Amino acid sequence: MSEHFDVIVAGAGPAGAQCARDLAQRDHDVLVLEAESEDEFPRQSNKSTAGTFPSMMGSFGIPDDVVMNYTDDVVLESPNRHFVRRQPGAVLEFADFKNFLVEDAREDGAEYWFDARVSKPVTDDGEIVGVKYGGNQEVYADVVVDATGPAAPLAKKLGVTDLERENQAIGVEYELEGIDIDADGYADLTDSMMLRLDHELAPGGYSWIFHTGEDTAKVGLCYIQNEAHRDYAKDGMGIDDYLQYWLDNDPRFESAERIEGKQHRGSAHIQMPSGFSTDNFMAIGDTVPTIDPLWGEGIHTCMKSGRAAAITADRCFMANDRDTSAEKMAIYDDLWHDQVAPNMRVRLLMTQLLYLAPNERYDTLMEDLNRLNPETLSDANAGSTREILKLMHTDDIPLLVQFAKERLLG
Ligand SMILES: Cc1cc2nc3c(=O)[nH]c(=O)nc-3n(C[C@H](O)[C@H](O)[C@H](O)COP(=O)(O)OP(=O)(O)OC[C@H]3O[C@@H](n4cnc5c(N)ncnc54)[C@H](O)[C@@H]3O)c2cc1C
Repeated sequence: MSEHFDVIVAGAGPAGAQCARDLAQRDHDVLVLEAESEDEFPRQSNKSTAGTFPSMMGSFGIPDDVVMNYTDDVVLESPNRHFVRRQPGAVLEFADFKNFLVEDAREDGAEYWFDARVSKPVTDDGEIVGVKYGGNQEVYADVVVDATGPAAPLAKKLGVTDLERENQAIGVEYELEGIDIDADGYADLTDSMMLRLDHELAPGGYSWIFHTGEDTAKVGLCYIQNEAHRDYAKDGMGIDDYLQYWLDNDPRFESAERIEGKQHRGSAHIQMPSGFSTDNFMAIGDTVPTIDPLWGEGIHTCMKSGRAAAITADRCFMANDRDTSAEKMAIYDDLWHDQVAPNMRVRLLMTQLLYLAPNERYDTLMEDLNRLNPETLSDANAGSTREILKLMHTDDIPLLVQFAKERLLG
């Protein structure tokens, strides 16, 4: 006899693990199926720089012992300028953070099966009633949640998500030691998370240095292989070549060395979600996708989506006759739009515009940010049209025209 659970969650990333944590706390029978083996977990899925902020740590009760370094500032760099903003944050050890979420849910009764790669839905009368995993095994539940990140084997087969290849952002990072963290001619990056807009290093994207203490940091870059990337790309270079190019050419890395085994890479789609749920089913985290497109903050938003799915399942189970129809699951869609990523459409537009701008424009942006009210960046970042307009110039008209053309044609 195959087993039956209230909820099966596929994937133990921030979204799935948080969803299971909330469900277990509410005493629901929850099973998480994770593709990787337990003794190595997380290996390939140890993909994130894991820079986050106190709002995430507080909302989800994340303990200090998964933090590598508490940071004080966020720094933005352009090729020749920089801007420093005081904003406390935390750089997590992503592997410890993932393991904490697993252990915490287990303490509340969640079941975790590792080495259990989910391949497809098991359906009855067109509705999902379970999953196939680990080859040919089956397990059943009232509600199934796809939290496998961009893999999305269930959401794709059920036609819930349509993750488009041309919207896939890729990222790679190394952990380094021996970095000059307070180098002449650059901002002091001690206890900072720094994001750099510079097409020479990350064409159509951005690069980063997140300080992890003393002379160590996480150093990486990401981009989408879109028009902006093609305009600025160097012939024949892949993402690892760009990272090596930065390490070879930035004096801050002159004496730096890679810390063995500390390499992280992954991808996420930067696009408007096409769907979220159907009968007995929800897609969460980067399966949707849920990552914030502008700066790649995915941990907090994906965990919020996990919580929204748990709330939805809990409500469906509380009714006398369990109703997990598409209509009831759509509570999750509403929560996603209202609470998880309320400004997604505006932020996608801002993202396209930002990464299309040329390097010189990034220098002007830093000058403006230094000149304007310190709150301008946070308000513009939150989607305030008034603050965004303060950052626009008449010279931006050709950029806006190019942006409009690409949107109309693309
Ligand atoms: C290089 C890089 C740097 C980043 N830096 C930051 C940052 O600094 N701050 C931040 O907030 N966000 C950052 N992000 C984004 C953030 O890591 C993601 O948005 C977040 O991890 C997504 O969570 P998720 O749970 O949806 O999916 P994932 O983290 O992708 O987790 C999916 C899980 O499902 C498992 N899985 C996959 N397929 C299957 C299957 N078929 N069956 C069972 N299990 C499966 C995987 O092993 C994994 O454990 C970064 C991302 C990358 C790639």
